[in-house]
Amino acid sequence: MEKIEMVDLKGQYRKIENQVNDSVLKTIYSTNFINGPQVKNFQKHLESYLNVKHVIPCANGTDALQIALMAIGLKPGDEVITPNFTYASTVEVILLLGLTPVLVDIDIESFNIDISAIERAITKKTKAIIPVHLFGQPAFMSEIINIAKENKLYVIEDNAQSLGANYTYKDGLKKKAGTIGHIGTTSFFPSKNLGAYGDGGAIFTEDDDLANTLRGIVNHGMYKRYYHDLVGVNSRLDSIQASILDIKLNYLDDYNKSRNDAASKYTERLKNHSYILTPFSTGEYDSHVFHQYTLRILNGKRDKLAKYLNERDIPFGIYYPVPLHLQKAYKSDRYKESYFKVTNKVVQQVISLPMHTELADDQIDFITDTVKEFLD
Ligand SMILES: *Cc1c(COP(=O)(O)O)cnc(C)c1O
Repeated sequence: MEKIEMVDLKGQYRKIENQVNDSVLKTIYSTNFINGPQVKNFQKHLESYLNVKHVIPCANGTDALQIALMAIGLKPGDEVITPNFTYASTVEVILLLGLTPVLVDIDIESFNIDISAIERAITKKTKAIIPVHLFGQPAFMSEIINIAKENKLYVIEDNAQSLGANYTYKDGLKKKAGTIGHIGTTSFFPSKNLGAYGDGGAIFTEDDDLANTLRGIVNHGMYKRYYHDLVGVNSRLDSIQASILDIKLNYLDDYNKSRNDAASKYTERLKNHSYILTPFSTGEYDSHVFHQYTLRILNGKRDKLAKYLNERDIPFGIYYPVPLHLQKAYKSDRYKESYFKVTNKVVQQVISLPMHTELADDQIDFITDTVKEFLD
């Protein structure tokens, strides 16, 4: 058995090594390092993959969220609702822009933002909702869009973890996660489902005016060189990363299928155990692209299990150990602990097993046998 990695970027690279090396060298020889044709090509290919009118590449997934919020023109004090159980980027950019984050609880099965918690959190100052499609599974978008319409709110989807996932409406219509709200954002951090060999990100929208604003903001508010119409930032996807991503995009569906296959094998071996809850999937209403394969451990021994795995050289992740409302940087007296019953519980229970595109059956067997050996 090969050594188990949490994310096997080397194994994935080996399979596309020649193509990637050729493409990177071509970009270097061209010396079009900034906004070269590679960026435009990747943009076009991602637009057609996602079936979305506009993709605006940028430097990383956190910038993508910040730029999305800048583009909808909120004022300091405006409130933005976002889940309490996610990576810190969402709350961080809300605060950086002088906006007020309103963190809400999650749904216990999917780990995604809880619909009734959104409804309870809406005030006159609420201007936007940022659902996060966590761990590879789209949030409850139909309900979120309905709430947003009723209350005239913007919806920005943080799709850093679910690129390629489909959201299926009740009538059968499918859309790619990230293309449903007013704006969607993603990250090409190396371990993401579509990972660059460095940082990268992108913003999606169907709306021509928003696209125009977003394109300005990513490039210092310039539409014509040295004429600044908007206050912007410098946030570009560099040409070398774009040339790598353009190749890897061809494999995104295969990568997501490999993740799904690994997830099915994990679930097959771990289901029906009294102390293990395997990931929930809303089945016919969405697809899951398993950015993470996250279990809930129900007997209170999650940390002991983690130690046991560690001693046997099995990597794991605890995403996320501390809810955002308890982080030093984001504390606020608007929150009561009773608002976060689900998050406060799941942070004690979750553990993510190795998940990537190169997992072998013997590795999955060893991991699941070890988990069960400890819990039985
Ligand atoms: C990775 C991630 C981000 C941030 O992406 P970067 O490219 O690292 O800035 C934002 N939100 C979520 C949910 C993420 O997983």
